[in-house]
Amino acid sequence: VHPVFDNLPTTIFERMSGLARQYGAINLGQGFPDDQGPLPVREAAARALIEGSNQYPPMRGLPELRAAVAGHYGRTQDLTLDPDTEIVVTSGATEALAAAFTSLISPGDEVVLFQPLYDAYLPLVRRAGGVPRLVKLSPPHWRFERAMLEAAFSNRTRMVVLNSPLNPAGVVAPDEDLALLAEVCVRHDVVAVCDEVWEAVVFDGRRHRPLMSFPGMRERTVKIGSAGKLFGMTGWKVGFLCAAPPLARALAAAHQFLTFTTPPNLQAGVAWGLDNHRAWFDDMPANLQRSRDRLTAGLRDAGYVVLESQGTYFLNVDLAASGIALDDVTFCERCVTEHGVAAIPVSAFFAEDPVTTVVRLCFAKADATLDEAVRRLAAAK
Ligand code: PMP
Ligand code: GLN
Repeated sequence: VHPVFDNLPTTIFERMSGLARQYGAINLGQGFPDDQGPLPVREAAARALIEGSNQYPPMRGLPELRAAVAGHYGRTQDLTLDPDTEIVVTSGATEALAAAFTSLISPGDEVVLFQPLYDAYLPLVRRAGGVPRLVKLSPPHWRFERAMLEAAFSNRTRMVVLNSPLNPAGVVAPDEDLALLAEVCVRHDVVAVCDEVWEAVVFDGRRHRPLMSFPGMRERTVKIGSAGKLFGMTGWKVGFLCAAPPLARALAAAHQFLTFTTPPNLQAGVAWGLDNHRAWFDDMPANLQRSRDRLTAGLRDAGYVVLESQGTYFLNVDLAASGIALDDVTFCERCVTEHGVAAIPVSAFFAEDPVTTVVRLCFAKADATLDEAVRRLAAAK
């Protein structure tokens, strides 16, 4: 076994969902909605399954999906992307990340990553021979500053990985922080891999600004999206990567040996949805914002200190500020085994020097489920 994967534990999401099943708990851990996603989009995929081709689609993805992705990002983020040379469809954002790390990192290259970090990044970066340089973000704002970037970037830096909106923190990097990061990337001639899977799930009138749109970044950014998150169907694993032609070519070269293609009917469903189901992109965040507000209000009434959630399916509770002396892992274990609510300890998103007093809860659930979870969490206080 390669040392990176030797004894690597099962992911925290899988473990917590397993405990939730075992104890019959309400699962506010792993991030997925408790409905099945927009019916018209599922119907479009079903039509494609019955009436369309079930053979290999083109390696870079169905042309209609690449055109739909370009159209979507043109409308929502003012990006101009060439569907033929700048967009590749992947099997989830996870495969796009793997393709980026595999094709762009050489052994010894330094890769700047922000903690808390999504669990897939570090093993894949390390397996590619990358040397992680970690920048720690802290609650409640989870922001980076110039000095933190200057300390992490060097003349060996090849890549920076940015996740905004940020899972698990639920914050959106402000424009001034993106501008700062862009300036540092250009100065150090670094590629930015931007995990923007949560781009459509932003609240309170926010609009997602891709790092790719900042000066000097168009040619050096790999922007990664996920239909699973755009449409709230996390099992679909249809992702896209967008990059200038030379970068897209390199990532496509890796993609052809990672999965080669992605199920054509799901691609067709996503293409249909992006072109025709536009109301979703207003309704979905508005509905999730109401759920965020409901869980936030319930938890505050129960005496918890809730950190501001600006996007994603998640809000965070500050245990220490809530007067709870337990660390996050102990609290989450007790919650699921004794109180019937599964949550995610945020320390699981750190490789070193973890934040141990914050717990992540998923609010993409029915009102009655959130209310019952609040009732149970009130007893855990
Ligand atoms: N990146 C982040 C930050 C995520 O939260 C997730 C999934 N929740 C992914 C990547 C993976 O996306 P996909 O399921 O499309 O592979
Ligand atoms: N991204 C999801 C979350 O943060 C989990 C994905 C997974 O289970 N791998 O909850």
